[in-house]
Amino acid sequence: MANSFGDAQSNRAAVQATNDDASASKLSCVKKGYMKDDYVHLFVRRPVRRSPIINRGYFARWAALRKLLYQFLDCERSVKKQILSLGAGFDTTYFQLQDEGKAPHLYVELDFKEVTSKKAALIETFSQLRDKVGAAASISPEKGEVLSDHYKLLPVDLRNIPNLEDVITLANMDLSLPTFIIAECVLIYLDPDSSRAVVGWAAKTFSTAVFFLYEQILPDDAFGQQMIRNLAGRGCALLGIFATPTLLAKEKLFTDQGWQRAVAWDMLKVYSNFVDAQERRRIERLELFDEFEEWHMMQEHYCITYAINDTLYPEDLIAGIIEALHS
Ligand code: SAH
Repeated sequence: MANSFGDAQSNRAAVQATNDDASASKLSCVKKGYMKDDYVHLFVRRPVRRSPIINRGYFARWAALRKLLYQFLDCERSVKKQILSLGAGFDTTYFQLQDEGKAPHLYVELDFKEVTSKKAALIETFSQLRDKVGAAASISPEKGEVLSDHYKLLPVDLRNIPNLEDVITLANMDLSLPTFIIAECVLIYLDPDSSRAVVGWAAKTFSTAVFFLYEQILPDDAFGQQMIRNLAGRGCALLGIFATPTLLAKEKLFTDQGWQRAVAWDMLKVYSNFVDAQERRRIERLELFDEFEEWHMMQEHYCITYAINDTLYPEDLIAGIIEALHS
């Protein structure tokens, strides 16, 4: 049955299920020592062991996002900041930043109601999570909401911009504060018009913001075709990949939609030029790894696009990254 946005319900459920895969993969990495996350196990019903290549890929994605987040949070520390996570799934970054004493003034997570309801129920159930949102938080699994002073979890359909606007208002976001927007493996599942609308909406809405996008590219070679077939076979069509199939196209998506600057790099480059060398050496000792050809191919098909719109501190936020990548 098609819903009002013209896609099948099974697709919606299948795309939501990619969140369970992401959490299981993160837990697999945590168990092998790639990264620390004291919360992700609370969100995984059936732990699985992923192959070294998948673990390393998740590590690269996690390390790059972490580095950019710290750069954002550590710059102008006296200024209040916000993080907005689109299609956040069961991501636990908020809880980790709390532990590290680095949580921003406001952290907002959005996802389909089916997902936010489950996340709200888990936050209500586990005291480790409940304590982090604070005793005064209002938690409603029925509404799929958690509302506290510094953390908000709310349901939305990202394809519906008026809905997105209402939710941002409900979350009490201050549109003038520096805002870090995260979209990890989310926009690629939307039709291209909807992704463009989200990117354009974000540019118009937040006067000082960075946008972190992580998703697939290169649909046309053999590896890309197989990647698309695998996901399509599960009911998760990568609807956006043909509209932005290259690094240049990802950058253009942002600059066409009102972002001042955008830089896109594939994950091979991110892993070798941006992830700290010391960390790379540490994780490369964790597991036997000999699938180099496969690793290169896989990493070439994922990329980070980092866009900025800044009326306050443009160079501080992006200079380090551009420097690292152009060196
Ligand atoms: N960002 C998380 C989860 C990725 S899985 C991570 O990286 O771990 C993709 C998530 O996007 C799912 O939780 C799915 O429900 C959500 N999503 C996909 N399309 C959406 C839409 N139209 N509106 C809201 N959420 C959506």
